[in-house]
Amino acid sequence: MALVNEEFLKLPGSYLFSDIAKKVNTFKITHPKEDVIRLGIGDVTRPLPAASIEAMHKAVNDMTSKRTFHGYGPEQGYSFLISTIIKNDYQPRGIHLTPTEVFINDGAKSDTGNIGDILSRDNCIGVTDPIYPVYIDSNVMGGRAGVLEKSGKWSNITYMPCRGENNFIPAIPEKQIDIIYLCYPNNPTGTTLTKAELKKWVDYAIKNNAIIMFDSAYEAYIQEDDVPHSIYEIKGAQKCAIEFRSFSKTAGFTGVRCGYTVVPKEVMATTLSGEKVSLNALWNRRQCTKFNGASYISQRGAEAIYTPEGKKEIKETIDYYMGNASVMKESLEAIGLQVYGGVNAPYVWIKTPDNTSSWKFFDQLLYECYVVTTPGVGFGPSGEGYIRLSAFGTREDTIEAMHRIQNKLL
Ligand code: PLP
Repeated sequence: MALVNEEFLKLPGSYLFSDIAKKVNTFKITHPKEDVIRLGIGDVTRPLPAASIEAMHKAVNDMTSKRTFHGYGPEQGYSFLISTIIKNDYQPRGIHLTPTEVFINDGAKSDTGNIGDILSRDNCIGVTDPIYPVYIDSNVMGGRAGVLEKSGKWSNITYMPCRGENNFIPAIPEKQIDIIYLCYPNNPTGTTLTKAELKKWVDYAIKNNAIIMFDSAYEAYIQEDDVPHSIYEIKGAQKCAIEFRSFSKTAGFTGVRCGYTVVPKEVMATTLSGEKVSLNALWNRRQCTKFNGASYISQRGAEAIYTPEGKKEIKETIDYYMGNASVMKESLEAIGLQVYGGVNAPYVWIKTPDNTSSWKFFDQLLYECYVVTTPGVGFGPSGEGYIRLSAFGTREDTIEAMHRIQNKLL
């Protein structure tokens, strides 16, 4: 008799985006003439950099001849991309990585979700709240979450609230945690941590033999100097942190699929008998069994974003999205709303006026302004009382949406 992994049965449906879609569809049926602007999307909308397109065309041509054809590549990724990443993303920041510490993947979602494969079920997990849902759901699947309580929290997960009241800076919890998920710049709040704040977590992890899962998928959006791009800018982090990066938001690769994970050799976890084991070796073993590499074509496309043309093109696109973020931030602050994020991240996080619930404010913006947002509570209990706006739309739509909101809410 085949038995199911019952941990999966504990997961509630992923209702957030389908609930939003249902509400928008109902609105469109009852208001067929209104032009709806979607600022809820977390996907990029602008085309790939020309440098990547050219490199991928060339890579396709490579496949046409026996001499340059590429079949299965290394599970860890091609050395041409790994060395380019180390040279461009780490060396200039004084971070020394060896090629076997960088694993190319098909995007950060897979690895942030799969990294739990190499960790015991018995670890205590800590997450900032609100949060990118993959960290929690993958730990539910791995049997580490306990049961879902009425509060919307899992009984065995430690939630570290990030709200306006604490300036979105998570406090070190009293209960010891073994695996800490940090995402900076943050999705959904768009906020960041300074080096000094991040150092507290690195110190905690080293002192408690804990591991930090650092998701920096939005690193390319950082504009301010004191915001770390990599956790390895903090002394000691190479002993306790795994870093996830992605070309999705950096270079429009959401549909192409390519990213990478850094697992330094010094990061150790302990067996029940007290033996220290390198997670780099285990992750390599895991990848060689379960992953057959990102495609040669995607990796050539990713390599091209590090050329002078590629760098210029991705900067233009990021500047465009960050221009949208500024428009949103300034327009909403001008009508007295409390606005967070939007400075080092493509997300703007807004406190709902008069403590309105996230969903009520979502409905108000949909029905009065025809603007679709994302209710903050969908990202976790501490997201209640906030909504998220995305900067990934067009400038025209962003400006128009802000006019509508200003006219209705002023
Ligand atoms: N991490 C965060 C915080 C994200 O917001 C996303 C996507 O929205 C991802 C990871 C996954 O990105 P991808 O799998 O496209 O690299």
